[in-house]
Amino acid sequence: MALIVQKFGGSSVANMERVRNVARIITETYKKGNSVVVVLSAQGDTTDDLIAKAEELNPHASKREMDMLLSTGEQISIALCAMTIEGMGYQVVSLTGWQAGMNTDSAYGNARIKRINTERIQTELDKNKIVLVAGFQGINKYGDITTLGRGGSDTSAVALAAALHADLCQIYTDVDGVYTADPRTVQGARKLEEITFDEMLELASLGAQVLHNRSVEMAKRYNVNLEVLSSFTGNPGTKVKEVVKTMEKTHVSGVAKDKNVARLALIGLADEPGTAFKIFSLLAKKKINVDIILQSIGREETKDISFTVARGDAEEAKRILEENRDYIGFKSIEMNTQVAKVSIVGAGMVNNFGVASRMFEALSNAGVNINMISTSEIKVSVLVDERDADRAVQAVHDKFFSEFGGNN
Ligand code: ASP
Ligand code: MG
Repeated sequence: MALIVQKFGGSSVANMERVRNVARIITETYKKGNSVVVVLSAQGDTTDDLIAKAEELNPHASKREMDMLLSTGEQISIALCAMTIEGMGYQVVSLTGWQAGMNTDSAYGNARIKRINTERIQTELDKNKIVLVAGFQGINKYGDITTLGRGGSDTSAVALAAALHADLCQIYTDVDGVYTADPRTVQGARKLEEITFDEMLELASLGAQVLHNRSVEMAKRYNVNLEVLSSFTGNPGTKVKEVVKTMEKTHVSGVAKDKNVARLALIGLADEPGTAFKIFSLLAKKKINVDIILQSIGREETKDISFTVARGDAEEAKRILEENRDYIGFKSIEMNTQVAKVSIVGAGMVNNFGVASRMFEALSNAGVNINMISTSEIKVSVLVDERDADRAVQAVHDKFFSEFGGNN
C-alpha cells in the first residue's frame, strides 16, 4: 500500500475518450490498494484558447482576472474526470487549488507555492476516496485565485507529493519518458530508464521540455521520486531521482540542442584589469543573462572577449555595449545569431576527461567546427554554426549511444 500522486497533462485529458482512459489508469492504481491523489491539467489547448479570448476582449487585462479565467480550465478537467470515476462506481472527490490547501504568494500568473495545508486531502483519503486536484492553481493571502505559470501543473503535483510524503509521483504525458536526444529528429534516440534530478534540470533548461523546470527543482529539494510516463502506451517510463544505478560509470545521459542563442564578440579590448567587469556589469544591470564566455590571450596589449546570450537579447546587448564603447574601450563588435549550442549531459562525467574528448572527436569526424566550449560538472557544451547543429547532435549521439560507436 502506497500513496501515489499521479499527474495527467493536457493532451492526456484532451477529449472524452482520453478522460475515460485516465479514469481507468487512476482506478487501476487505486484497486491495487494504493491511496491516489491526482492532479489534472486543462484539456488540450484550453489554456491557449482562454488566453486568446481574453486578448480579444482586453489585451491588457489584469493578471488577477487572467488567473481567474485560466484556472477554470483545470476545474473542468477535474469535474469531468471525477464524474467518470463516480460512474465507474468508485468514491472520488474533486478539489480546486484552494480547497486542496494550495497557498501561494501573490505573483499572479507566476505564483510560487508557499505552503500546502493538506488537511482536507488527508480527510478525503482517510474516507478511502480518490482525490482529484486542479493543477496550476492556488490561492493567495487575499483569498484570490493565482496560477503557477505555464506548465505549472507538474509543479502542483510535485508539491503535493512532497507535502503528503507520497511514495511516488507519476507524471503522465504524451511521450513515454525522457530520451537520450529528441526522438523526432535524432536517429537512434532511446528512452532512459532513469536519470538524476541534476541531469533532468540541465536537459530541461536545454530545451527538452518534458517537465516544468520548477517541478524538477522542487522534486530535488524534497527528494520526491518522480516518474515520467505515457498515458497512452502503458510502457514503463523514466525515473527521475537523486542517484541512479549507472552513475559510477562514464555516463552520458543525453545530447541536447539549443537554437535560442547568439554570440557577441568584442574585439581589441584593453588587456588590463576591470574590462570583463565593465562589460558584464552593464549587461547584468539590464538583466541580460550571459552563458558561455571566452577570453583570448592578450597580445600587443589587447584581447578579445566573446560570449553568448539568448537570441532575443542579442540586439539589446549589442546596443548597450555600443553605447558604452568609450567607457569599455574596444575596436569593434561582432554579432552572430546563426549559432546553436550542442551539449552532452551526464552525472558521471565529472571525473572523466575522456568524455569531452570523445565529443570533440565525433565533431571532428563530422567536419563540424567548434566556435566555443564550456564545461561544468555534468555538462559539456559547444557552440557551432546553426546549419551544422543537427548534424553535430546526430554525430555526438552516435558516438555515445550507437551500438558500435558507444560504450556508454
Ligand atoms: N494548463 C496550464 C498550461 O497549459 C498548466 C499546465 O498544463 O500544466 O500551461
Ligand atoms: Mg500543459
